[in-house]
Amino acid sequence: MTDCLFCKIAAGEIPCNKVYEDEDFLAFNDINPKAPVHVLVIPKHHLASLNDADEQDVGLLGLLMDATRKVARELGVDNPGYRVILNVGKGGGQEVFHIHVHILGGKILPF
Ligand code: 5GP
Ligand code: ZN
Repeated sequence: MTDCLFCKIAAGEIPCNKVYEDEDFLAFNDINPKAPVHVLVIPKHHLASLNDADEQDVGLLGLLMDATRKVARELGVDNPGYRVILNVGKGGGQEVFHIHVHILGGKILPF
């Protein structure tokens, strides 16, 4: 996608504070953090949202969760734990239409 902010970040065209990268996934600090640790995990492959996923994306979705687990462990928030948020569509508060998982942690989060 040529006009997608997170595709541009994944391509290195827009800078980010990278915390993790592998062949298929990238994680970087959220520009407007809502917790001491607030990281976004994205697939490099463009998928607009969970609503846009189909059977073909099941592997990517599983790997996205696996990358999230690895990033959380590398950030050291796996213990005592962290929150994973996936906003879906405008009604779910999604602002950037390139699927991404929020990792929030670094403190005991209120409900
Ligand atoms: P959403 O509401 O779509 O689930 O989350 C989008 C997130 O992306 C927001 O938390 C917002 O702060 C973050 N964000 C928006 N633009 C940028 C940017 O250019 N760089 C980074 N690092 N984060 C961004
Ligand atoms: Zn994209």
